[in-house]
Amino acid sequence: SSLAKLDDTVPPTNRVQDRNDAPLEAPTDSFENTADTDPSLVANQAWGKEILARIPGSVLGNDIVKATTITEVEELNTIISTAVEHGKAWAQMGGAGRAAILHRAGDVLAGRRAELMEVMASETGKTLDQGDPEVSEAVDFAHYYAERAKDLATIDGAIYVPAKLTVVTPPWNFPVAIPAGSTLAALAAGSAVVIKPARQAQRCGSMMVQALWDAGVPREVLALVQLGERELGKTLISHPAVDRVILTGGYETAELFRSFRSDLPLLAETSGKNVVIVTPSADLDLAAKDVVQSAFGHAGQKCSAASLVIMVGSVSKSARFHNQLIDAASSLSVGYPETATSQMGPIIEPAAGKLHKALTTLDAGESWAIEPRQLDSTGKLWSPGVRTGVAAGSTVHLTEFFGPVLGVMEAATLEDAISLVNRIDYGLTSGLHSLDSAEIGLWLDTVQAGNLYVNRGITGAIVQRQPFGGWKKSAVGAGTKAGGPNYLMGLGSWETAESTA
Ligand code: GLU
Repeated sequence: SSLAKLDDTVPPTNRVQDRNDAPLEAPTDSFENTADTDPSLVANQAWGKEILARIPGSVLGNDIVKATTITEVEELNTIISTAVEHGKAWAQMGGAGRAAILHRAGDVLAGRRAELMEVMASETGKTLDQGDPEVSEAVDFAHYYAERAKDLATIDGAIYVPAKLTVVTPPWNFPVAIPAGSTLAALAAGSAVVIKPARQAQRCGSMMVQALWDAGVPREVLALVQLGERELGKTLISHPAVDRVILTGGYETAELFRSFRSDLPLLAETSGKNVVIVTPSADLDLAAKDVVQSAFGHAGQKCSAASLVIMVGSVSKSARFHNQLIDAASSLSVGYPETATSQMGPIIEPAAGKLHKALTTLDAGESWAIEPRQLDSTGKLWSPGVRTGVAAGSTVHLTEFFGPVLGVMEAATLEDAISLVNRIDYGLTSGLHSLDSAEIGLWLDTVQAGNLYVNRGITGAIVQRQPFGGWKKSAVGAGTKAGGPNYLMGLGSWETAESTA
């Protein structure tokens, strides 16, 4: 099913080893549940109902299960103790037993592709061309982790002991694949799970969880919650029964989670500020296409998105790459996902703060190659922006915006370009367009990022083939890569017969 990934056009090069040597640190947006009161979310639900009705064969209608909204600490304690209790039988079932259920979960998710795409579109504005490969990724996670569950055996007398309870706090930007991947991994390992889907993507999270329940994961082992009070986030994260927390979100959220509990057993994939370098040897047409896809897919709201492109040497002197980039970016079809051909949808919330500034104001020496335009009164729909003349050390060089704006920098040599990349605090994905093997070798050896891609886009990591995870401030805690062979190791421990006796 990975073949359905749309932007996987060229075989990638991927760094093999995990390189997460960042200090142990750590989760999420607001914990408050506003799904029933936020007018824009309510409007989205109505619209979702309409398009769902138009999808032939859609089975779920709009009857998506609702998370339990917890308002009292006692309720939370009960859910946690129930999960831990039922988790014992889940762990004892063994890897092969769990694998059978998780493979079925993959089949159920695949069978609900249309509904999942709809709910992502209506709830988060994800265009259909992005929602389709996202469902594939969730399905891939199910089958991949199911197989890895079978590998968890006794090695040299040491026994794999799964975490008893894992809390999953996924983001809204990959509202199906990331909650699915995190949950499936913990379940595969043999842990019970409490998942709190992102506030902005509750229906997506619920529909994913429902698929797993329908495949046979017991409801007690996989608890779906929303938190009615902000304080309960802290209660959940710092609960002594919780022995793993999987977070995908901003670096600040990871820090917040760690402030709740200093010994937090965290697996976090956090922010990114990702750069594509283009050298004179590159296929410039391919480079322009890949940069545009990586920068503006899902309106730039991916941790993996390209936020900067650095033109090396003569690339910046000739108009060729520049013109291709401008043409490709300006010809993107921008619109809400109900226009099936939309290639770039809205941003999740009206542009504010640093993103609004990045879309509307230039810094010294910069100019607009394409000036973003606000396309309607919502504040959410913007045409892509490309800013050139970005200076080393500037805000645009170093800050993550998480939106549809790309900065263009110049460097005299590849070495200079690499040092510009390595000055950035984050290190999630990085790209190189070059047809020169010496350049490729130099870049692979020196650039600081978790996932490296040569001559392809830098988003859309494929489960198993490109285990996904960052370096520096892009990873916090036990930084094993999602969708890779070591991930389940972070969700349990190896104990000798004596230590468990
Ligand atoms: N795994 C996604 C990708 O490779 C990015 C996930 C994220 O944005 O957190 O594009």
